[in-house]
Amino acid sequence: MVDQNIVWQRHNINRTNRAEQKRQKPCILWFTGLSASGKSTTANAVEKKLFKLGHHTYLLDGDNVRHGLNKDLGFGDADRVENIRRIGEMSKLFADAGLIVLSAFISPFRSDRKMVRELVSEGEFVEIHMATPLSVCEERDPKGLYKKARQGNIKNFTGIDSAYEPPESPEITLNTAECDVEACAEQVIKYLREKHIIHD
Ligand code: ADP
Repeated sequence: MVDQNIVWQRHNINRTNRAEQKRQKPCILWFTGLSASGKSTTANAVEKKLFKLGHHTYLLDGDNVRHGLNKDLGFGDADRVENIRRIGEMSKLFADAGLIVLSAFISPFRSDRKMVRELVSEGEFVEIHMATPLSVCEERDPKGLYKKARQGNIKNFTGIDSAYEPPESPEITLNTAECDVEACAEQVIKYLREKHIIHD
């Protein structure tokens, strides 16, 4: 319930001022894909490149979100929706702060990703589909999770007994089965330059 007495506080320094100070356009780079599709690895590589170029970034992933803000949430459908809603709102705040936000979450449902897209202005939500095939992800299985899911020891595992809805028109599609980490990260940087989100 929204408290009727809560009113927006007016501030003198706005998102444009903060972004201009950092000489970048704020945006949310939203990495979506199956477990082990390469979201974290690629997001990390992109963040390293941006940092080297002097940009101000922040990477949100399972490690810094699931253990803190969202530690009360599980992996059922309702909790997954709430997980993404909170991450979306948090990403929006970081973008308001002028940052280039990298969010690396499976985010399997189209409607949830749409909800986040609609939180920010046109062009600020950059959906990056990690289109690595399930067979490759399952073969990699770095944490042994696919094996456990196949044995029935993890319920609601995306790609096994919970759906993954691929993006219909993502801004960027990457397939880590065909493209090494460096090349994937470079594709993202190229996109950011083309869209004038970053400058040389
Ligand atoms: P996710 O965050 O989607 O769960 P990770 O980034 O943890 O996936 O990557 C899963 C595995 O795939 C890791 O072992 C990683 O080294 C490997 N990997 C990621 N990107 C690539 C790539 N471009 N080429 C080859 N292997 C990759």
